[in-house]
Amino acid sequence: MNESMNNLIRQEISKAQKVLLVSHIRPDGDAIGSLIGLGLALEAAGKNVNLVSIDGAPSSLKFLPGYQKINQSVEDGFDLLIVVDCSDWQRTGLATKIEDKPGINIDHHITNDHFARINWVDTTAAATAEIIAENITSWGLELNQEIARALLTAIITDTIGFRTSNVSPRTLRIAADLLSSGISINEIYMQALVNRSLEAMRYWGAGLNKLQKEDGMVWTSLTLDDQNKTGYYGKDDADLINIISGIEGIPISIIFIEQPGGGVKVSWRAQPGYDVSRVAQEFGGGGHPAAAGAMFDSGLKEVQEIVIRNTRKLLNNYKSS
Ligand code: 5GP
Ligand code: MN
Repeated sequence: MNESMNNLIRQEISKAQKVLLVSHIRPDGDAIGSLIGLGLALEAAGKNVNLVSIDGAPSSLKFLPGYQKINQSVEDGFDLLIVVDCSDWQRTGLATKIEDKPGINIDHHITNDHFARINWVDTTAAATAEIIAENITSWGLELNQEIARALLTAIITDTIGFRTSNVSPRTLRIAADLLSSGISINEIYMQALVNRSLEAMRYWGAGLNKLQKEDGMVWTSLTLDDQNKTGYYGKDDADLINIISGIEGIPISIIFIEQPGGGVKVSWRAQPGYDVSRVAQEFGGGGHPAAAGAMFDSGLKEVQEIVIRNTRKLLNNYKSS
């Protein structure tokens, strides 16, 4: 199956001259690392490539060569559209702007709905970049140091430094191969995962001060007021969810983040054995069993109530089964 799929992808790529490569809104390290990694490889093969992330890219990834190539809009036409790390077409933010059905969908989300003509979805991969690194030469493309740096950054960020439960021997072998191109794992780790601004740490403090707990779950919120008080104006929770999901003995953690344009973003994290993508999907979101998210239009109090209620129901299902 892999071989025939790889052949199909190879043919599509070899036929195309202008490639549009896109990823999801509110992009993370896997979205951007996969976009840059595959984009640079296509460019090296002589393609005219347009990399598009409509929400731009996190500044923590500025160190990646290729970061400056990312555009926030689609201007030109294309003859092949490839989507990476994105579970559904709507989540690119481009569904209303592009009528064509995407050509290739490369992803690892369990909630992927196979929206393209060719769907390379491997839910056992710890990151989309793992799929790209493993198969890129079968697609007629070559790896170099800059591509390896982007792909390894994607794997390290999506696995929070190789600590998520979906990290496999294969993940580590692929990472080792990428590392042997001569790049620095320390640079990637520090730039993409560890370094934080003082403001972001103060923002964490605001969230940590409001932690709440009941049987089986912890949660907190980050408000626009917290942003103003701490001076942190980045997107989302500055990854505070990765800290609170480390609270001992708690299977599910949740963060509610008030949005500048209205509405609330919710992030769930779960210990192995629990699947929070199910509760995220109830609200039109998605993700992985261990990490999922959704966007809500209503106010913080209302969203908190309904999300806590439904997550409690999910936990109770596990208790009774
Ligand atoms: P985060 O909580 O870090 O934003 O996202 C956790 C995981 O869930 C990521 O894999 C992300 O792509 C996915 N995710 C987050 N929000 C949404 C959403 O609104 N829709 C879908 N389909 N996936 C989401
Ligand atoms: Mn991912």
